[in-house]
Amino acid sequence: MRVSAYPLVDAEVAAAVVLERTSFLGVESVHLSECLGRVVAEDVRAPSSLPVDPVSAVDGFAVRAADAGKTLRVLGESAAGRPYSGRIEAGTTARILTGGVLPAGADCVVMFEDIKGDGDAVTVPAGLRPGSNFHAPGADVREGEMVIPAGTQLGAAEIGLAAALNLAHLRVGRRPRVALLSTGDELIEVGKAPGRGQITDSNRWALLAALREAGAEVKLLGIAPDEPEPLRELVVSALEDADALVTSGGVSVGTHDLVKPLLESLGTVHIGRVKLKPGKPFTYATLDGGKVAFGLPGFPVSSLVTFEVFVRPALRKMQGFAQLRRPTLRVRMGFDAQATAERTEYHRVTLKKEGSDLVASSTGSQSSSRLMSLAGAHALVRVPPGDQGLSAGSYVEALILSLA
Ligand code: AMP
Ligand code: MG
Repeated sequence: MRVSAYPLVDAEVAAAVVLERTSFLGVESVHLSECLGRVVAEDVRAPSSLPVDPVSAVDGFAVRAADAGKTLRVLGESAAGRPYSGRIEAGTTARILTGGVLPAGADCVVMFEDIKGDGDAVTVPAGLRPGSNFHAPGADVREGEMVIPAGTQLGAAEIGLAAALNLAHLRVGRRPRVALLSTGDELIEVGKAPGRGQITDSNRWALLAALREAGAEVKLLGIAPDEPEPLRELVVSALEDADALVTSGGVSVGTHDLVKPLLESLGTVHIGRVKLKPGKPFTYATLDGGKVAFGLPGFPVSSLVTFEVFVRPALRKMQGFAQLRRPTLRVRMGFDAQATAERTEYHRVTLKKEGSDLVASSTGSQSSSRLMSLAGAHALVRVPPGDQGLSAGSYVEALILSLA
């Protein structure tokens, strides 16, 4: 076994190095139909108030509060989309339906059930308050108010809000274009019959999903053999129209591990090994033209954990997300987690509510080949290096992957 020339970098330091070198990719204008999951690149302020007009919150009669207790002549009707064009003077009223514009002159709405009489004349109760039962202009949103701050991910409510404000397009961060490559002579396409010693390329599909979840547009390069030239050709041509390269496999110190030398020939390798378990051989390089490359280890769990720790935050920074990392929640350890002497370990856990606590249970063997340790996991618990570990009953901040 050769000894790696790369220093072992502290995992948190390596994550900071990656982020420091990651830049925002720029802005594009996107129609609301394509905005789900995108990140608002500039603060969105309301171009107009909501509602624009005073609109009734109920079905009833539009009146002047000063006419409380009186019998009023019914002049007409204001329905949603069909406003009453006249004016409510003293002694008059108009029928109004939910969403109908409050006619000029009226200052409150009386609900049908509080009205006596019908037809051309109705009697309204005493003690009416101006402003009741309708939404005043700007009651929901004031013109000029900040509605969606830069860095927010767009979901259903934000998209609806933009549409309500008559904004058909939003300025969002461009998605990173990522070329994804699996390396290894042992790999075959999923669905093919494996020969002896062959395994399916599972990392490609795991990383494709992880990349998409992180907002990337992915170009699948397939499988590269453990030979320098085909690998180099694939990578060089793929990088022409990609912002980033993500590879799996071929970064450890075995003789068939060709990714590091390739990245060195194409740019600068800043990180070649990290104090992380799983994921020690994680490699990060900057390439010509402002592109970046992430060389993830081949073991399936190592590739996904290093994706979580290093790649996902970088992809989010490229898109302008305000929040780069997963949210954390305080959880109670439901088991003793062993530490690794020199490396930060990310222990995969499930979470269960017990009283007011979230309690973490291990997903079992944490072998870097065992995807079952990550499948169904709710969170990652960071176990600091050393000999202490985390004992059952202690409280830690867990990185939440999914609670669904
Ligand atoms: P490597 O990092 O290339 O030394 O690979 C480490 C381990 O991960 C080996 O057991 C590989 O067979 C496995 N491996 C590498 N690439 C993949 C892949 N794309 N899908 C599934 N397993 C892989
Ligand atoms: Mg390999």
